[in-house]
Amino acid sequence: MGKRFKQYEVLKWASLFLEKYHREPKVAELLLQYHLDVERTKFFARMQEPIDQQLLFNFEEDLINHALTGIPIQHLTGYEMFYGRQFKVDENVLIPRPETEELIEHVVTYVRKIFSSNKPLTILDVGTGSGIIAITLALELENAEVYAADISEKALHIAKQNAEILHANVEFLQGDFLSPAIEQEIKADIIVSNPPYIAQDEAKELSDTVKNFDPSLALFAEEEGLAAYKKIVSQLPECIINEKGTSVFFEIGQSQGNPVKNILKEMYPKSHIEVFQDINKKDRIVHCQISDVQESK
Ligand code: GLN
Repeated sequence: MGKRFKQYEVLKWASLFLEKYHREPKVAELLLQYHLDVERTKFFARMQEPIDQQLLFNFEEDLINHALTGIPIQHLTGYEMFYGRQFKVDENVLIPRPETEELIEHVVTYVRKIFSSNKPLTILDVGTGSGIIAITLALELENAEVYAADISEKALHIAKQNAEILHANVEFLQGDFLSPAIEQEIKADIIVSNPPYIAQDEAKELSDTVKNFDPSLALFAEEEGLAAYKKIVSQLPECIINEKGTSVFFEIGQSQGNPVKNILKEMYPKSHIEVFQDINKKDRIVHCQISDVQESK
């Protein structure tokens, strides 16, 4: 039997290997943890232990694949963490991003402030993908009845699995933006969406990890990335709750604060709209409180 490498030797080699390919060296650590099937603490405690040959072979195969093609680690491991929970992902859904956790934070804070804990409310997540927004809100807000729509059957398949694994009560609908909710006459107190918002001509600036692996349907939108917001806003009148008003929360691209604000203002001139920045000080979230439903166009 040949020499068995110790864990720290493998980790060092793998990190340097990724650096050579201009990849994030940290991926080596996460991928090795995944193959060893250990948590972070245990992983660091057993650095001196030898690594099984077959395990090393499988790890190297994934590592090389990542280095050469840019395949995201989440597609190799099959999951990503979001808001403290593990979500299943594959090539049919956008890999969860930390910015979207900030979107959740805004919705949760707003709901807790406005709705008393025993008052039921309806939330609709538009373009749910892996279901992260709908499922997290259903689990964080016990008084919420949550619906989630997506046009992609394959995305909904993943989202439904995630809801089941995490025991979240979410009703999934298939269709384009708000259309399936309109068909079922669903009216929501909160409409939330992280729609595709990257302009087609920005594709060249994206890394291969994103461009070649996240679904284009979840990334790109026409009209400088604004098409999805325009479509959703045009459908809003049929899904808002007239007597009480509805709040809309959008995740946006960093240059879309004003354009998205204007799209909403045009439909609801008297609404109260705020643009929030993410932790990197980039415009990332728009919150619109629709209070002028009677006068809306
Ligand atoms: N936030 C994602 C990114 O920057 C884009 C997702 C989206 O368009 N909603 O890659």
